[in-house]
Amino acid sequence: MFNNKTILNVDFKDQKVLLRCDFNVKIQNGIITDETRIQGALPTINYLIDGGAKIILCSHRGKPKGKYDPELTLEPVAKRLSEILGQEIYFKSEPQVITREIKDAIDQLEQGQIVLLDNTRFRIEETENGESFSKELASLADIFVNDAFGTVHRAHASTEGVTHYMKESVSGFLIEKELKFLGQAIDKPQRPFIAILGGAKVSDKIKVIDELIGKVDGLIIGGGMAYTFLKAQGYEIGNSMCEEDKLDYALEMIEKAKRMGVTLRLPVDHSVSKSFADIPAIITEGQDIPEGTMGLDIGPKTIKNYVGSLKNAKTILWNGPMGVFEFENYNKGTLALAKCMSALDAVTIVGGGDSAAAVAQLGYKDQMTHISTGGGASLKFLEGSILPGIEALDNL
Ligand code: AMP
Repeated sequence: MFNNKTILNVDFKDQKVLLRCDFNVKIQNGIITDETRIQGALPTINYLIDGGAKIILCSHRGKPKGKYDPELTLEPVAKRLSEILGQEIYFKSEPQVITREIKDAIDQLEQGQIVLLDNTRFRIEETENGESFSKELASLADIFVNDAFGTVHRAHASTEGVTHYMKESVSGFLIEKELKFLGQAIDKPQRPFIAILGGAKVSDKIKVIDELIGKVDGLIIGGGMAYTFLKAQGYEIGNSMCEEDKLDYALEMIEKAKRMGVTLRLPVDHSVSKSFADIPAIITEGQDIPEGTMGLDIGPKTIKNYVGSLKNAKTILWNGPMGVFEFENYNKGTLALAKCMSALDAVTIVGGGDSAAAVAQLGYKDQMTHISTGGGASLKFLEGSILPGIEALDNL
């Protein structure tokens, strides 16, 4: 499906390599609270070190919108990376990202040594895919390696623009791993193939639902998006979240699933609350949600039903929690599915973002076949959309 050159097709010895990573990590009081993305970048970084490259790392973090923000500097990443790698990393926090001093540091790099640039989004040209910043980035190195899967769906200066001015542009190991797992699930899944979709909004996942119905054997819907599907079929949903303008679309998808012989499962009961708060749940009798309450999780009968339907699955793709998993009283559905998936003899793939956070928070991270590091990017991939950060790489 993808024909891009990878890191394995290039000799890096003594070459300056610009490596775009995804260091968009959460940091509280200077401490990185989730290192998954840093760990994800290590295979490529280590490969470049071993291959004798002179390495220039870059990444965005958060949304500084073209302005310097000391809260969003990559300094804690530089510190942590140098601890992990056991070597000093040159880092200077600069609003301009690239300065004369930083260029000098790059020129002095020996093989296997590393410079980390500060947050590329301190420059407004980054998200505008501006030519000047793209050229500046390209001027630093001989070869570009993109390993930031989390941003491949965006055409930014450090993911797309830069490739126009590089001699060679290839992908790193993390991108390859993501493409392999997501690609295999979509193109040649072991069957039965079941997709679980949850999370807050139908509108975020419209194209994904549409695309997946043509590929899966079963589709399970939970989370906030389930109520739009239920309301469309005439059920009462009380104060639950609902996208009125997506009711027709929901019906269309229910029809499409029927037409294609795909079992589409919706909640048959719910854990509801009188307010959006972490207070004990009320369990509904059936699919209707009583007036004055809102659905915040799937109910116990639904859990049994969903878990049962996964038992024989050979490939499971999960994107979006089954309820407000951040509340202990409403994490039961998400927890039950994570636990069930972790024990199955199946390929289990978890989309990034909130689903990945939920699986990590609930302690099932290591039992999944693959957890994507890119929420938005994995959704775009599943929709079948073009990923500019991959399109821009050299072809084999
Ligand atoms: P998404 O980013 O679309 O995957 O949505 C994830 C968010 O959906 C999480 O923060 C959940 O708390 C939220 N969510 C899941 N189920 C519900 C629900 N029934 N009502 C409100 N929010 C929900």
